[in-house]
Amino acid sequence: MSPGGGCATPKPNEPSPARNRRRFIDRCFLTELFLRQSGKHTARFALPLALDYDSCLQPASTTFLACDGCGQSASPEHIARRLQRLEWTTRYRPVHIGTLLLGGVSPGADGDFLYAGKFEGQAGQLLAALGISTAGKPPDVVLGEFQRGGFFVTHVLECPLEASPSGQPSCDSLLLRRVPPVLARIRRSLKPKRVVLISELLAPLLSRFSSAELGCPVLLDSGKPFNLNPSDLSLGAQHLREALTAGTTGV
Ligand SMILES: [Zn+2]
Repeated sequence: MSPGGGCATPKPNEPSPARNRRRFIDRCFLTELFLRQSGKHTARFALPLALDYDSCLQPASTTFLACDGCGQSASPEHIARRLQRLEWTTRYRPVHIGTLLLGGVSPGADGDFLYAGKFEGQAGQLLAALGISTAGKPPDVVLGEFQRGGFFVTHVLECPLEASPSGQPSCDSLLLRRVPPVLARIRRSLKPKRVVLISELLAPLLSRFSSAELGCPVLLDSGKPFNLNPSDLSLGAQHLREALTAGTTGV
């Protein structure tokens, strides 16, 4: 402020306040004039631009890393379910695995997953085939009996098959990709005395799961995986028990 209370005297070469106001008004006028004159153009190109912008707001496909147990997309829900099943399984893993029962794909329903302790579907069929009764026994007693028998069950795909949107690999493709890590897991970590293939899904992969690859005998039913489907359960179970007793049939 100047001593007289008025505005400060403009410095040399600095526009006066009045000149600044005029320039500001001129700019506003020119901007409004431009917008009015280009109104049609604005309307014409604004709509497509808005649509283009909107298209960018569509949900981007989230890419997760592959699950180490199945090779499928490892969403948080997928990993949570895998961890839950690992927890159930680890409790009943024998220190020394006598018979590794190898399936194709982990069942979708937890009730069918043996270590969940409900013994429905596949889990009940497997126990029946091995002659382990569940009648009147708490789950931990049944699973303890299974464990003491030296049995351990796992799958080439350790997680259920996800509903597959287009572009996801097929079940056959996922199984094929999992062969090398599963072979390594069996040889280096599980180290069973023998492996029994219990899923028809593994039929195309028989040559990969040979005794030579696994370092132990592989039990088969007349050159094929044991069929423990409900329709042939009694026959498949009989063949399985015979093979386990003989313990020599394999590839
Ligand atoms: Zn998985």
